[in-house]
Amino acid sequence: MDQLLQKVQQGGVVGAGGAGFPTYVKLDCQVEYVMANGAECEPLLYKDQVLMQRESKEFFGGMLLAMQQVGAKRGIIGIKKKNKISIDILRETLPDSIELLLMEDVYPAGDEVELIYEAIGKRVPSGGLPKDIGVMVNNIESFINIYKVAHGHAVTETMITVHGEVKNPFTTWVPIGMSYEEVIALAGGITCDDFVVIEGGPMMGSVTTDLTQPVTKISSGLLVIKRDSRVARAKLKSEDDVRRIGKAACDQCNLCTSMCPRALLGYPIQPHLAMRALQVSGVNNLTYALAAQACSGCNLCTMWACPEGLDPSRICVTTKRELKSNNLWQTPAELQLKTIDVHPLRSYRGVPTKQLVRRLELVDYISVIAEYVDFNELLATNKQNIERVVIPLSQHIGKSADAVVSVGDVVKKGQIIGQAVDDALSVSIHSSINGKVIAVDTAIEIEIEII
Ligand code: SF4
Ligand code: SF4
Repeated sequence: MDQLLQKVQQGGVVGAGGAGFPTYVKLDCQVEYVMANGAECEPLLYKDQVLMQRESKEFFGGMLLAMQQVGAKRGIIGIKKKNKISIDILRETLPDSIELLLMEDVYPAGDEVELIYEAIGKRVPSGGLPKDIGVMVNNIESFINIYKVAHGHAVTETMITVHGEVKNPFTTWVPIGMSYEEVIALAGGITCDDFVVIEGGPMMGSVTTDLTQPVTKISSGLLVIKRDSRVARAKLKSEDDVRRIGKAACDQCNLCTSMCPRALLGYPIQPHLAMRALQVSGVNNLTYALAAQACSGCNLCTMWACPEGLDPSRICVTTKRELKSNNLWQTPAELQLKTIDVHPLRSYRGVPTKQLVRRLELVDYISVIAEYVDFNELLATNKQNIERVVIPLSQHIGKSADAVVSVGDVVKKGQIIGQAVDDALSVSIHSSINGKVIAVDTAIEIEIEII
């Protein structure tokens, strides 16, 4: 394996803030363009802006390394026009081979398929990958991590925004393995009694009440919201309820499909047909069910388009899952898909973030930006210490790393505690603190120890 790819795999770089796809695999191609996705279209999250403003040297360094690796002559950074501070800072030292793509403040500008189309006017083939049209896309944190591992520093922290019903929203680097509870406590306390936490952004993030979970490499945000808020209510509905209510109440008005960003780009996705499948024979009705295959899960149909308050997005997600588990999934070739033209009204149907925030009932929070605060300052202000971390051996798509430490071992920050599995999609996992291993299972538990 190439030297940089090895460092990226052993250093544990994955798609930060996404599904955790191992970055060394993404870098193993030859393409024309390398794109950085700095559109940050999930309301309330601010980590990409912090990273671009504070670590532009490492960010550009990572992009240039990636461009060299994949043979790309051009780098493009997608960033919204509204982020003037970040744009000005980037422009000060922007390398000649990298340009800025200034984007409108609409959702979902940060979908990589949208970003690529806006940047070069090409569409990723349905069921295909960006590299099929000569593009590699990564998020800002992943490029920074590429730079860091190339300079000997493994991935041990994640940049995260904490916002919502907390006293002092912030964005900072936190050690991987801290619990949600400890990280949220750094915001000075929760300001309501009955709350849930969104992992990620309010549109695509999932809801949890288990605050013992550890932050991982793919954690991007922890949003504390009231349990009876619109976003929480939508995400807390059980799958059975979503199906039962959808089956009874969908009037096939078609608005979900009219507003679907992927449909507007000409992809074969029609969420109203996935809803219609509920009313007939479900996933077995392939005429309708296959219309869910190209869904990106952006959630716009559910949180913005549907006038009945239904959840076509979740229906598309569950339909896709069932197509796969029933061996009914079809490849683009089997589907004989034809790319249709981009919808002539696409540019008028982008959803402005400001209006989306109003619809999501997040207006009370949006006026406060979760600015960067140094992690040690947060610990001191809140009289907190890190006592232990729980670091999962799988924080990525593919095979879990193999534990290479035992109970009682003393480890240092940055030391490999889980080794990437040979000849498999896998990355290594590292200790995020100096300490002693106290448990080894699917996660490694480490207690702080000054060594
Ligand atoms: S927008 Fe709602 S009611 Fe209309 S077709 Fe879609 S799911 Fe059904
Ligand atoms: S979640 Fe809804 S709007 Fe988004 S791609 Fe899927 S069907 Fe389209």
